[in-house]
Amino acid sequence: MDPHARTRSDSEGRNLMIPIDLVTGVTPLHAAPRLALRLGLGAGDLLVKRDDLIGLGGGGNKVRKLQYTCAEAIGGSATVLVTTGAPQSNHARLTAAAAARLGLRAVLVLEGAEPPQVQGNLLLEKYLGASVVWAGDDDLAAAAAGVVAALAADGERPYLIPFGGTSAHSAEGYADAARELLGQLPEPDHVVVAVGSGGTMAGLVKVLGAKRVLGVDCGAVDDARGTVADLLRGMGSAVAPEELRIDGNQIGRGYARLEPATRAAMTEFAQAEGILLDPTYTGRAGAGLISAVRSGEIRPGERTVFLHTGGLPGLFGHPEA
Ligand SMILES: *Cc1c(COP(=O)(O)O)cnc(C)c1O
Repeated sequence: MDPHARTRSDSEGRNLMIPIDLVTGVTPLHAAPRLALRLGLGAGDLLVKRDDLIGLGGGGNKVRKLQYTCAEAIGGSATVLVTTGAPQSNHARLTAAAAARLGLRAVLVLEGAEPPQVQGNLLLEKYLGASVVWAGDDDLAAAAAGVVAALAADGERPYLIPFGGTSAHSAEGYADAARELLGQLPEPDHVVVAVGSGGTMAGLVKVLGAKRVLGVDCGAVDDARGTVADLLRGMGSAVAPEELRIDGNQIGRGYARLEPATRAAMTEFAQAEGILLDPTYTGRAGAGLISAVRSGEIRPGERTVFLHTGGLPGLFGHPEA
């Protein structure tokens, strides 16, 4: 039996996979007083939850979700993890890192054509030993299905991890994170988070409720609100889509394009606190935070947590950054 695979029985005697530990401890929560004052909040109002400091493969939010998907992969005796993503996908990088930690192979099926230079997440994926397959003009899901079939024909046992690592099951990783946060700060008023495939926001809302979580849509999916609501239904915590707080104004020209408000937020965080954000996700979440303070949706005296979800390697593979 693989040392990482563990199950527990529920009250009806069914075996449940226990998420494997890839996070390596509780992530820090610390005040950001200089940034808070610059934004017009009280010095103690703003805290940053550092999931960028998760101790695997350069860190980031995807690790908490991978704890669930990898438990399932190992439980099914998988030999290779397969997943899909954009060329600078943080999830692809962290899947490669999880595979290395668990002694599995990783095949990453990425959108479009191979870029001329190996940078950012792509470079790290090479060091992590993952194979990369470029989907070219093919649909990403179809390309991944082809890779899975070819691996199985070769005698491998592939396990396909969904886009962004998100399912109603893996989103429990962020329900866990929300409980971890409540142990550090019992009554947060706002938790601001970037929304990509939606699993991170869904897990937070399951535990914190819709009123306390502000999701900033980064344009990775067509309907962020519907996606998060569907995930919550799958997690057994239905919330009406219109109850979700989602800022849809930070998408600009689209996913992974570097917008002026994003660049401004990246500059504010860096120069006020020495905290580095990325152009695709956390920079947009930062812009969403700044905009919510300006509009009065977040007010002085309210305890606001900015969830830093990682993504810094993407900055070094970004054409406009
Ligand atoms: C993927 C990602 C997100 C969004 O998380 P989802 O669960 O896909 O919504 C936010 N920040 C970073 C850095 C990411 O890589």
